[in-house]
Amino acid sequence: MRKIYFIISLFIMFAFSGCYYGSLSGEGDRPDYAVAIHGGAGAIKKENISSEKEKAIKAKLNEAMNEAEKVLKDDGKAVDAVEAAIHVLEKSPLFNAGKGSVLTADGEVEMDASIMRGEDKNAGAVAGVRNIKSPISAAKKVMNESKHVMFARKGAEKFAFEQGMDSVPNEYFITQERWKRYKKKHPEAKEPDKFGTVGCVVLDKEGNLAAGTSTGGMSEKKYGRVGDSPIIGAGTYAHNETVAVSATGHGEYFIRHAVAHDIHALVKYKNWTVERAGDHVINKKFVYYDVNGGLIILDKFGHIHQPFNTPGMYRGYLKAGEEPVVKLYGEEEKGK
Ligand code: ASP
Repeated sequence: MRKIYFIISLFIMFAFSGCYYGSLSGEGDRPDYAVAIHGGAGAIKKENISSEKEKAIKAKLNEAMNEAEKVLKDDGKAVDAVEAAIHVLEKSPLFNAGKGSVLTADGEVEMDASIMRGEDKNAGAVAGVRNIKSPISAAKKVMNESKHVMFARKGAEKFAFEQGMDSVPNEYFITQERWKRYKKKHPEAKEPDKFGTVGCVVLDKEGNLAAGTSTGGMSEKKYGRVGDSPIIGAGTYAHNETVAVSATGHGEYFIRHAVAHDIHALVKYKNWTVERAGDHVINKKFVYYDVNGGLIILDKFGHIHQPFNTPGMYRGYLKAGEEPVVKLYGEEEKGK
C-alpha cells in the first residue's frame, strides 16, 4: 500500500513540475503569431518632432506591421512577413532605408540589408548597394537563389538584377537633393543626424522565427564602409530554438560584440529571458562602453523585448488577437 502511495505522489509531483516548467517557459501562452519592428534608435525626443511627423511615423510603423500580419493571417511564413513589413519602411522617406537613406561623405547612397530564417538558419545579405529598389528583397534572393550568404557592391547589384529585381536611379533614394547640392559647394557641411535603420522580427503560426534589417548605414560614412545591418550575428539573427533579433545603433560596436548572436547565445546557453539578455547587452554592456543603440527581440514563445539606451527608438509590436502598440520616445515605458 505504501508503495502505491509513493508512486502516486511521485506521479503528482511530476505532473505539477511539468505545468510549472510550462508556465515558466511561456509555452502555454504563445500567441498564434507575433511581430515586432523598429525604425531606428537615436536622439529621438518629443520636443524635436512635430506632431504631424510623429503621426506620419506611427502610421508607417502600423502599416508595416499590418502588412506583416496579412501574411501571417494567411498562414504565410515568418520570413515573408519580415520582407512585407520592411518593404513599407524602405519605400517611405521617413526612415533611413531604401528611399530616404542617409548620404555618404561623397553625397551618395549605399545601402545594407540582411534577412535570416530561423527554421533552417539560412540567411542572405547585400552590402554597399546602389540602385536596388528593395535591398531587403535582394537579401532574400541571395538567401533563396544562391549558395552564398552575402554579396557586396557591384556584384550584389549584378546578382539582384540578374534575378529580375527592380532597378532605380540612385536619385530615387535621395530625398535631400537640395542638401546634397549644398554639400557639394560646402564640403564641410554636416548633415543633421538621421536615424531610421529599419528592422522586423516575426514568429509565424508554425513557430518559425525570422529577422531582417535594412539601412542606408551611418550618415557621412566613408567609401565602402559596411555596418552591422547586413552582418548575420551582428545586426540580424534568427534561430527557431531561441530568438529573432534586429539591431540599430553604432554598427562598428554591434559587429565587434556580435550582438544579435550574443542575444541568441544568452538565451540558449544561459536560459536567460529576452528581458535579461537584451538589458544585459544594451543597458549594461553598451552603457559601460558608451555605445548607442537598441534591439528588437522576439522569442519562440512570442515574448517581445525592445531595449534601447538612446532617448528614443521608433518601435512597435503586435500579437495575434491584440491591438498593435507603437512608441517613439524613451519616456513611454522603456522596454516592452
Ligand atoms: N546600425 C546601422 C549602421 O551602423 C546604423 C543605425 O542603425 O542607425 O550602419
